[in-house]
Amino acid sequence: MSLTDIADTKAGALKLLRSTGEELRRLYRLADEVRRERMGDDVYLRGIVEFSNICANNCTYCGIRGGNKAVSRYRMTFEEILDVARSMAGTERTTVVLQSGETQVFGDEEIGEIVKRIKRETSLSITLSVGNRPFETYRYWHECGMDRYLLRFETSDAQLFEALRPRTTLQDRVRCLTDLPNLGVQTGSGFMVGLPGETLETLADNILLCRDLTLDMIGIGPFIPHPGTPLAGKRNAYDGDPEMFFKAIAVLRIFNPDAHIPATTAYDALFPGQGRDRALQVGANVFMPNNTPVQYRKDYLLYPGKPCITEDADQCSACTLMRIEALGRTVGKGPGHGRSRFADRPR
Ligand code: SAH
Ligand code: SF4
Repeated sequence: MSLTDIADTKAGALKLLRSTGEELRRLYRLADEVRRERMGDDVYLRGIVEFSNICANNCTYCGIRGGNKAVSRYRMTFEEILDVARSMAGTERTTVVLQSGETQVFGDEEIGEIVKRIKRETSLSITLSVGNRPFETYRYWHECGMDRYLLRFETSDAQLFEALRPRTTLQDRVRCLTDLPNLGVQTGSGFMVGLPGETLETLADNILLCRDLTLDMIGIGPFIPHPGTPLAGKRNAYDGDPEMFFKAIAVLRIFNPDAHIPATTAYDALFPGQGRDRALQVGANVFMPNNTPVQYRKDYLLYPGKPCITEDADQCSACTLMRIEALGRTVGKGPGHGRSRFADRPR
């Protein structure tokens, strides 16, 4: 079967996800080759700033869900956020990713002002990741200078989605993921791997949904049960089969050859000190060092075991550069804009 055939069907995705032994080694080699051919050896650095952990939602998997009363809540000030962005200017971190819980604690206008100020004072690209918002809000932020948006659909199984994210629907999430590219915003989405209740079919469907949405960026990561959530006692669906987390990245790359795929932090939480490196070797091409001021990091625990809680931004940055070099890769110099929408499908 040719790559075009495999990368087109759910049966093809399932076949690749079931690879073992020599077949699996071939899958990893192929994913790495596709990454090199389509995205090059550069690894782009996006500095993430978790600027508030206040959230009105109650996603059953998330450590900072509104219902978790054990969390000490914070919101960074306008000046604190600006200071972090200023400190990134001129470094290898050419994009600032501003992420928070989903809430109106920061008004749309306030977020717009932050975006405008960062744009005025630095040459950074700006990614926002603050949840579902109306079309008009996305349009306003785009006018303010927002370049990109991250919003994972979490799972392509609508029933599971609604069970995990009370009072929200997959349909509305997908509406946001259609509004954003229509506005010209580079759009990122993705999902968790191994949510309780998912099957291998769900994983294949997740990968196909990413492809169908023609995303510029795709972030995925293992689901890790948090003790302060309703899913505390649950196990990851791939407990006992840790290769599945890496197979997911490899198949994702083959099905989405032109997407930026980050080696996400949750890989290091599950595979300390090596998870993100392995992800970079099986298809990923982006790294997101933590730029949240140290005093806030321990309060942004979406899942337990999150690394880089006590290191500061400079330490995280130095460590990231070392890891990339050790893999024989180079650091991306430009903004690393999305290119999926303009590129051809694999042939
Ligand atoms: N509030 C925004 C952004 C913050 S959450 C939003 O929900 O979109 C960022 C991501 O963290 C989520 O998209 C989810 O995929 C991930 N996440 C949350 N809880 C997790 C857990 N227990 N294990 C792994 N990833 C988790
Ligand atoms: Fe809030 Fe996002 Fe966590 Fe859901 S995943 S509870 S929206 S921070």
